[in-house]
Amino acid sequence: MRACRRCHILTNRNTCPYCGEPTSDHWHGYLIVLNPSESKIAEKMKIKMPGKYALKVR
Ligand SMILES: [Zn+2]
Repeated sequence: MRACRRCHILTNRNTCPYCGEPTSDHWHGYLIVLNPSESKIAEKMKIKMPGKYALKVR
């Protein structure tokens, strides 16, 4: 799995399927967001859609 440097979503592609930024395989921890509008962490991370996100991406 790789993580997008900008929106932190996890994917196995080299570029993010959502924002087109290059992805990185240097990331730590992950977060599953089911309901972005009801999650404080999602709000903080500016997550708009449900999915799996890396907490930290280098
Ligand atoms: Zn992205």
